[in-house]
Amino acid sequence: MPEMISLEEARALVLAHVSALPVETAPVLEAVGRVAAADLSSDIDVSPFAHSAMDGFAVRAAELAHASAEAPVELDVVAEIAAGDVFEGVIEAGQCVRIMTGAPLPEDADAVVKYEIVDVVTGDGKPGSRVAFTAPAAERSNVRDAGEEAKAGEVVVEQGEVIGSAGVGFLASCGIVNVPVHRRPRVAVIAVGSELVDPTEVPTRGKIRNSNSYALAACAQAAGAVPVILPIVEDTQEALAAAVSAATEQYDFVVTSGGASNGDFDFIKPVVEELGELLITTVNMRPGKAQTFGIVNGTPVFGLPGNPAAAYVGFEMIIRPALRKMQGYTHFERPSVMAQLSRDVKKKDPRRIFLRGTLYKNDEGAYVVAPAKNQSSGLFGVIQRSNCMAILPEGLESRTAGSLVQCVLLDVNEEVSL
Ligand code: AMP
Ligand code: MG
Repeated sequence: MPEMISLEEARALVLAHVSALPVETAPVLEAVGRVAAADLSSDIDVSPFAHSAMDGFAVRAAELAHASAEAPVELDVVAEIAAGDVFEGVIEAGQCVRIMTGAPLPEDADAVVKYEIVDVVTGDGKPGSRVAFTAPAAERSNVRDAGEEAKAGEVVVEQGEVIGSAGVGFLASCGIVNVPVHRRPRVAVIAVGSELVDPTEVPTRGKIRNSNSYALAACAQAAGAVPVILPIVEDTQEALAAAVSAATEQYDFVVTSGGASNGDFDFIKPVVEELGELLITTVNMRPGKAQTFGIVNGTPVFGLPGNPAAAYVGFEMIIRPALRKMQGYTHFERPSVMAQLSRDVKKKDPRRIFLRGTLYKNDEGAYVVAPAKNQSSGLFGVIQRSNCMAILPEGLESRTAGSLVQCVLLDVNEEVSL
């Protein structure tokens, strides 16, 4: 039997047993939050042509070189260009063109002066009018040049980049409507326990609702994977072996919860050992010491403890990084900050402890973490009301109020660094 290992060792071992899944093509909108699996380049210049950044008048800057309030320069408005139109004419000396935001800059113009600072001398400012300029205009002012954001053929998103919401728009402007991404891992979620009933049922005496499968499926989904909740498995070695074996044939990753310790009805360890290779049985952490990992039929199988908080922490700390690696992500640490403990915390267990808690800033702007009063490993509600986990390292050193502890933020992406 493998002995107790550190969380880092457990994570490294699981990561070493997974790799990025094959590449598929996703419509650009569905690529949001995913990792580009190849360099992506634009088919055109973005923007495709020099255009006006303002509603105003397209001019030759040189003509306004000596314009001032005392000696305004007057020009004739010879045309008007709306966004989507093209002005093919010539702007002679003494002329200008009324232009709208987004309209292409005429060949002869090199600056745009916004409406608000142009005086109308005769007419209404439209073609046929005469307008006056009271200040010089810098060349290219209020002009957005062609290819300002990207040149045709240039790589706009590199392989490995996570595509954000704005990135979806950027790719759209570059004509990239299909994005190569790593396939999302399909994750089987199996609850193990003869006491479990579906959440749609009201449990009879001795039974409880299967809440783990739902939380773990939500965690898998939040990690970008596609979870499938499989039927509850009763506490027999045969039933568990059959369910795990079948799941490994169909899924990229199998997650069970329950039956993970050494009780009379705990079978995940013997099942993984019987069917494949057992690599992890215990991790030096609390909650969630009983973490089982192995490979069955070439598929990673992870047996989480049954206690809800223990299952959650195990998933977040060890399984989530693996599911992310399978999708091409390269950051595996959630952002964390150092915070002052709001109260004394006694440490009676030498394992690394993850305290569910609330992180906030005090009046001086310093981070403070208030560990939840009830740290029972059986509770999901406490995590629902928490926003971080404060870490007390291995050992028996108790902490006093005000001492600094590392707090890992919940539900914040690994790409964020604080
Ligand atoms: P076990 O790891 O099977 O010994 O379970 C530890 C505790 O977690 C027991 O109180 C179980 O009833 C509970 N538990 C196990 N599986 C689930 C589940 N799927 N949903 C909610 N609680 C569970
Ligand atoms: Mg059990």
